Amino acid sequence: MLLLQEEKKSLINTLRGKGIIDERILNAIYNVPREKFIPEAFRKYAYDDNALPIECQQTISQPFTVAYMTLALNIQPGDKVLEVGTGSGYQTAILCELGADVYTIERIEQLYNSSKELLESLGYRFHINLGDGTMGWEECAPYNKIIVTAGAPSIPPTLIDQLDMNGKMTIPVGSLEFQKLYDITKTPEKVEYKVHEAFKFVPLIGQEGWNKSLR
Ligand code: SAM
Repeated sequence: MLLLQEEKKSLINTLRGKGIIDERILNAIYNVPREKFIPEAFRKYAYDDNALPIECQQTISQPFTVAYMTLALNIQPGDKVLEVGTGSGYQTAILCELGADVYTIERIEQLYNSSKELLESLGYRFHINLGDGTMGWEECAPYNKIIVTAGAPSIPPTLIDQLDMNGKMTIPVGSLEFQKLYDITKTPEKVEYKVHEAFKFVPLIGQEGWNKSLR
């Protein structure tokens, strides 16, 4: 237990060193038990600042990436947030810790089931759907914020449509090998884009993403 707390503190220090100084986000990362979102074999690495394998050849994102994308969205309590790519459920938990009203979508049934069960067992309240997140979640739109946690070949127009006016979206866009993070703000006049760091994500597969034959 003591060891786990030390490992958590060390991760927080690493993130501070990389420029994450938002105390709300650092507290959320401290509070979410990342080891529970990781397969047994990799649990000893839970508080390393690395992406790790999860079921179905997918990954749990690196804590720095989670922090960076969460910061980009300036998540506030009560924000209605659509997350595309539930994966392990870790990013969902971080958004819930920040008081967001989270709508998360996963395309792989096994991950949908396991993350739903885990997040519920940890007491988080959220909405989850099984399906192609490139199509968003239309019945519940619009969203104040949208976070896409898989790499897209281009920005899905449907997600822009489902973003509320003055809403923000963060999404990795690029090739299958690497992507740049796009921060998007929708204003009444136009859609603004800022391009940030390069990252490596698993592919966003779907109607407005990469082709299904990939995985
Ligand atoms: N947020 C996750 C976490 O904290 O573990 C990261 C998940 S992983 C990097 C990306 C996830 O996106 C994978 O679980 C993958 O199956 C999912 N995914 C890919 N394309 C998708 C789509 N069109 N709709 C929903 N989920 C998708």
